[in-house]
Amino acid sequence: MQSLSDLVDSFHLYAVCETCQRQAKLDVETLINRLGGDTEVHKMRSKLKCRVCHTRTEDLRIVYVGKKDQEAIFQYRR
Ligand SMILES: [Zn+2]
Repeated sequence: MQSLSDLVDSFHLYAVCETCQRQAKLDVETLINRLGGDTEVHKMRSKLKCRVCHTRTEDLRIVYVGKKDQEAIFQYRR
């Protein structure tokens, strides 16, 4: 099972509201701080709620964005 700590390095997590077609990026590090890194991603689904229309949604998208190490090369090299 995929847990939040598996996602933090290489993936972005998006919640999608089918009612108003809104897509919001979830901050994985914030979620880990609040729920713990061992939290399984599929368990997050029941906690999601759209901020705009307040509909509960279970639609999560996981997007691969690459390893954090590779970003760091660009961020920290001077
Ligand atoms: Zn909505």
